[in-house]
Amino acid sequence: MLQFKAVKELQDVISNYKSQGKSIGFVPTMGALHKGHLSLIEHCKKTVDIAVCSIFVNPTQFNDPKDLEKYPRTISKDTELLEKVGNDIVFIPTVEEVYPENLDTSLELDFGKLANVMEGAFRPGHFDGMAQVVNRLLEIVLPDYLFMGQKDYQQFAIVQDMLRQLKSPIQLVMGATIREEDGLAMSSRNVRLTPEERQKAVLISKTLKTAMQELNQLPPLQVRERSLQRLNIPEFKVDYFEIVDGISLQPVESIINSKTVVACTAVYLGAVRLIDNMIYEINP
Ligand code: AMP
Repeated sequence: MLQFKAVKELQDVISNYKSQGKSIGFVPTMGALHKGHLSLIEHCKKTVDIAVCSIFVNPTQFNDPKDLEKYPRTISKDTELLEKVGNDIVFIPTVEEVYPENLDTSLELDFGKLANVMEGAFRPGHFDGMAQVVNRLLEIVLPDYLFMGQKDYQQFAIVQDMLRQLKSPIQLVMGATIREEDGLAMSSRNVRLTPEERQKAVLISKTLKTAMQELNQLPPLQVRERSLQRLNIPEFKVDYFEIVDGISLQPVESIINSKTVVACTAVYLGAVRLIDNMIYEINP
């Protein structure tokens, strides 16, 4: 596996591959890699010739400085794991490399209502920072395919909208959420849970699963209410539980007008904030 810190060196190698007619797939990450990330790399490897993974904890998408400081960093383990799954290139830039002083990386895009609900409402500025870094990394890597997880459903929808607004030819591919045996969605933040919190955390995915079943019979608003009640335990502080249209991300009162409906939630366990979602497929 090739490893780069500098933009220029990475670009030279990628353009060489491209001139040989090889297709490039890209998986951006913030490191502390787990099986969720690795499944994206495997998906990428099956689709393209060259898999590129970036590891960069992007400061501009953290609205809470403590969260940024505490974000787990495990670079040598990460590179070992990437090697094992056959990743071809890992890009581990510094902040200065991604945001050089003389380069305007700001992005004047309007995501409208996609960005002011759920994560957008609770983490002001988060999606601007996320879109800024994804756009910058895409300009550096210039991939044919971009792989992102369903785990961050709203992020995926916003990146999709960004690519549409930029008229980008890059194909965005969604990877399924990989879960622990008990159902907890894998997340780099899970390592920060205490053993007690880790035990309680299973209630998040259980509640989403129950909501999927309830949507067969009950209207979304009622399912939302029942889900909020289930999540109402002393160990949790719930930011939101919303049942939204899979495309507009706006809360729905009925499932009949949507192609897909997604239940999304964000919950604090102590200082650790976890998000998860499940997609309710509506038969045509
Ligand atoms: P992160 O390192 O948290 O920024 O995540 C990098 C990519 O991995 C994003 O596209 C996430 O949606 C995806 N991802 C994170 N957790 C999971 C998971 N449990 N299953 C599948 N993909 C995931």
